[in-house]
Amino acid sequence: MSYGGHDPKGYGVEDLVLLSTIDLKHVVQNLQLRFQKGRIYTYIGEVLVAVNPYRQLGIYEKNSIDQYKGREIYERSPHVFAIADVAYRSMKRFGRDSCIVISGESGAGKTETSKIIMRYLAAITNVQQQGEIERVKNVLLRSNCILEAFGCAKTTRNDNSSRFGKYMHINFDYDGDPVGGNISNYLLEKSRVVRQQDGERNFHVFYQLANGGDDALLRQFGLTKDAKQYYFLNQGRSHKVASINDSRDFAEVQTALRSINTFDKQDVESMWSVIAALIHLGNVRFIDGDNSSGAVHISEKAALQNAARCLSVTPDELAKSLSTQVVAAHGDIVKKQHDVNAAYYTRDALAKALYDRLFSWVVSKINEAISVQNNSRYSKSHVIGVLDIYGFEIFGSNSFEQLCINYCNEKLQQLFIELVLKQEQDEYEREGIKWVKIEYFNNKIICDLVEVPRIGILSILDEACASIGNVTDKVFLGELDKKLKNHNHYTSRNLKQSDKSMGFEEFRITHYAGNVTYSVMGFMDKNKDTLFQDLKRLLYHSKNRLIKSLFPDGSKSMAEVNRRPATVGFLFKNSMNELVKQLAQKEPHYIRCIKPNEEKNSSIFDVERVEHQVRYLGLLENVRVRRAGFAHRMPYDRFVNRYKLICPQTWPNPRRGQQLRESCWQILEHVGLSADCTQGRTKVFISSPQTLFQLEELRTKQ
Ligand code: ATP
Ligand code: MG
Repeated sequence: MSYGGHDPKGYGVEDLVLLSTIDLKHVVQNLQLRFQKGRIYTYIGEVLVAVNPYRQLGIYEKNSIDQYKGREIYERSPHVFAIADVAYRSMKRFGRDSCIVISGESGAGKTETSKIIMRYLAAITNVQQQGEIERVKNVLLRSNCILEAFGCAKTTRNDNSSRFGKYMHINFDYDGDPVGGNISNYLLEKSRVVRQQDGERNFHVFYQLANGGDDALLRQFGLTKDAKQYYFLNQGRSHKVASINDSRDFAEVQTALRSINTFDKQDVESMWSVIAALIHLGNVRFIDGDNSSGAVHISEKAALQNAARCLSVTPDELAKSLSTQVVAAHGDIVKKQHDVNAAYYTRDALAKALYDRLFSWVVSKINEAISVQNNSRYSKSHVIGVLDIYGFEIFGSNSFEQLCINYCNEKLQQLFIELVLKQEQDEYEREGIKWVKIEYFNNKIICDLVEVPRIGILSILDEACASIGNVTDKVFLGELDKKLKNHNHYTSRNLKQSDKSMGFEEFRITHYAGNVTYSVMGFMDKNKDTLFQDLKRLLYHSKNRLIKSLFPDGSKSMAEVNRRPATVGFLFKNSMNELVKQLAQKEPHYIRCIKPNEEKNSSIFDVERVEHQVRYLGLLENVRVRRAGFAHRMPYDRFVNRYKLICPQTWPNPRRGQQLRESCWQILEHVGLSADCTQGRTKVFISSPQTLFQLEELRTKQ
């Protein structure tokens, strides 16, 4: 295979900046060659491109860790360890908070990469084996399998797809040892609890309990091992997954729960009891009543009784809450009977809320175990954040959840553009450096389409949800059409009648990563996310301490209930903006994951699919900006302080009255490296990483 660039070993270039021709074809060919040789990592400057190998590579063992520990990024072949080490050293050396943002579409390898980073950070710290630090490290590592059990599921795109966003930060003390951390979770796709598409599963934890729970435990919950007979577990017709061993995973989760001291034994039992209750709840069915009141009957009494038992409420109370609703009308409290549809809706709302709240409880327990202890030694701690969020996704049918997930990916892409592309170019301009501007697609317009007040999709949705009267999902779609008809990234069947690939209840967004058609059906319900007060009250009065604690809002009376709680879209938008703000305050490191094929196969490199990802991730522009630019830059004062010892004229101090810029240049000329550098207004710009290398080497030789 021919491709440009310096490649003595035949593995392709290690940094795409070194390619002699920078275009899509050469970039992808280089990634392909490296993938075929088992070299899945490639740099663009300090951005790491990682192609999912879909097989175990022996590159994460102890000897690899030793090779990367404490080394400069260019000393070794590209590796995720090198990125973790840069983040770690920059935190330790300069006291900077840093974050590692991992992006890429579903199945590209983000979660695996984040685990590799955590393991690396754990391996290189606490060499003295201090007890408390060891405990924190263990919780950080062990909690992963619990979070995955509750937050990941098999989808058609990924057997272990993250269905929630996770931002984990680790606090380090001044010795660079981890002393605590915190996990923020973002919008769990809770609709999966009650509905799964063909070929998909519910969250792993359900199958883990059903397959891995011992006979006594299952008997206690009235469960059998046969996942096929439970409606909430069998809709996707794929309850067994070849790559997953549910019962082994159950054992691992149990061990992890036991080892984290904030999960007490009784709470863990209650937690499994809730999972069992949800499994039973799915089998509760409703039929029309035989009287004229329209009230429903529950046909599966056993399922109802089991669910009630697992929730520590009486079957009668549960049945009543599922089939009726108490509402306040004109100051009166009246009881309304549900019809069959309303009863199913209520059952599903209960299941989703229960699971969602249980998930947040699990995260909060882990956080409790890793919260930084009050200790002055830790007060000046620094942070490394790792972001692993659900990847951009397009399914056969896309709904509100996909809109949120894809909007989240737009926000991260926007941050990448701001931090990597735009800032770099802005800085050259500010520093007065000669420079040819690189054009790139700025996706801000798509973020705005979703999030701006009044005319953004989420605002229009909120408005529809707040209206009184018969506002349906279709009316909402009509509003979107009216307000967004001139937007280049929005269209719908009504606006484009000729496009038969869309239905009349659908709209399409041209995302940075491709077109996604969303069905509006269910948008309003999902955004409102109403859980009737009856259900909250029911669970607040559960005899089970954990379940009761999940529903503190159930203590309110009808009159006290907030009529219009914040919508899901509104809360998600705020949490995304908060996240972006957090990330932007830290020194960012980027890992761009690429999925080589749709078949989860270790030997297929689908050139077209990869080209598509390289294009939308903006990697080409990244290479161009990087190459036209400089590998490193340093403010003059930092440069002089760091390297003054390698030049007799500046050691121990530069001549009095000399400008820092002059001293910097004096040093560079003395060691013969000035040709590779350019002077900006406040910083020196270094073209090739080797120059920095040489400077560091000269410094350590002194
Ligand atoms: P989602 O957005 O759906 O959560 P993701 O980007 O987090 O997707 P992962 O779950 O990390 O994707 O990866 C999917 C699968 O790819 C893994 O289960 C694993 O089989 C394989 N994989 C990813 N990265 C690696 C790696 N570095 N080494 C070996 N296998 C990997
Ligand atoms: Mg994931």
